Amino acid sequence: MKLQIPLSAPDISDEEIECVTRVLRTPDLSLGPELHAFEEALAAYHGVEHAIAVSSGTAGLHLALLALDVGTGDEVIVPSFTFIAVANAVLQVGATPVFAEIDPVTLNLDPTAVEQAVTPRTKAVLVVHTFGVPAQMDVLMALARRHRLSVIEDACEAIGARFEDTGQPRLVGTFGDMAVFGFYPNKQMTTGEGGAVLTRDAARAARLRSLRNQGRRPGANWLDHAEIGYNYRLSELACALGKVQLKRLDAMLDLRRAAAERYSQLLKDLPGLVLPPLELPGRTISWFVYVVRLPEGASRDSVQIALRDRGIATGRYFPPIHLQPGLQAALKGEPVSLPRSESIARRTLALPFFNRIEVSQQATVALALGEALVVAQR
Ligand SMILES: *Cc1c(COP(=O)(O)O)cnc(C)c1O
Repeated sequence: MKLQIPLSAPDISDEEIECVTRVLRTPDLSLGPELHAFEEALAAYHGVEHAIAVSSGTAGLHLALLALDVGTGDEVIVPSFTFIAVANAVLQVGATPVFAEIDPVTLNLDPTAVEQAVTPRTKAVLVVHTFGVPAQMDVLMALARRHRLSVIEDACEAIGARFEDTGQPRLVGTFGDMAVFGFYPNKQMTTGEGGAVLTRDAARAARLRSLRNQGRRPGANWLDHAEIGYNYRLSELACALGKVQLKRLDAMLDLRRAAAERYSQLLKDLPGLVLPPLELPGRTISWFVYVVRLPEGASRDSVQIALRDRGIATGRYFPPIHLQPGLQAALKGEPVSLPRSESIARRTLALPFFNRIEVSQQATVALALGEALVVAQR
C-alpha cells in the first residue's frame, strides 16, 4: 500500500534529469567519463586520494573486507543494531561477525564493549555511523591501533557527518583504513542503487577497481582476469545522478537538519518519548532518519498500525541482526548477549523523513503519534 506520507523520498531536481538524459545520448553507458568524474568529486569532497564507485553499499563492504584480506578464521567486530548488510558482508568473505553493544545515546558501537570483544582472531572493526551520528572515532581508532586491527567505517548512513578528534572536525569516512558509502534511494544522496569505497592507499584502490570489474587489472584487456572478481560496477547513468546529488549534498543536509529540528519542537512534550539528540559535543550529525524511542511498555505494533491507518509510514530501524531468522544458521548458535541493543531496538520507530517534508506533514505525524501513544499505553 502506498501511504500518503512516505518514510523516505529521493530529492531529484531538473538538473539530475538533464544530466542523466545527456548520458543516454552518448555511447558510454558504463566505465566512462561520468564514473571518473563522480569518483574524483567524492574523493575531493572527503580530501581522500581514492574513491571507487560500486553497485551498492553492500558491494562496497564486501570489497573493503576483501581488500583488507579479511577471510576464513578471522573475526570482525560489528554492531547488531544496524542494517543486515554489515553482518552479511563479513559472512560473505568467510569471516565471523562478533557483535558488540552500543552506546545508549549515539546508538553506535560502545568502545568499551569493542575492547571486551577483541580476541586473538580479531582482524577488523566495522564501525557504523548509525543514523548519521558519528561514532567515537578517536577512542575506536586508538583501540584499533593498540590491537593492530583494521578499521572499516560504514558511512552508508552518514555522508557529510563530522567528528572532532583533535582540532578541526573531520568528515566521517576519513578516519578508518577504508570507508564505505551507500546511495540507495532512502539515503541522504542517491544514485538509485550504488555505493563507494574510500581509501588513501593506491595499491588498495587498484585492487578495489580490479575486484569490482571481474578481476581485470586497471588498463588490462577486457578478457584478461588476474584474479577472481565481481561485477560491482556502477553505470554511467548512476554516476551522472550521483555527481549532481553530491554537488547539492550540503544544501540537502541543511534541509534535513531543519526538518529534524522541527520534529523535535513538535514532539518535545509527548510524555516518555525519547527524541534523537539534535546536538552532540564534537559531532555534526548528517540526518539520515528521524528515530524516536517509544516509552517503555507502549506497544510499537499498535502505534505503527494507528499511523498507517492515517496514511503515515513508519519503520522499525533496526531489528537486531543477531535475532534475524535468516542468520541463525550462519551464526552457528553461538550465544550472543546484547540486552541494551535488544531493549533499544524494541522501542525505536523511524518517522517519515526526507528533504522536502512539509511542515504540515510533520505536524500531522506529530499529532497522530501523540494520539496513538495514549492508546498504545493503555
Ligand atoms: C544502506 C546501508 C548499507 C548499504 O546498503 P545497500 O542497499 O547495499 O546500498 C550498508 N550499511 C548500512 C549501515 C546501511 O544503512
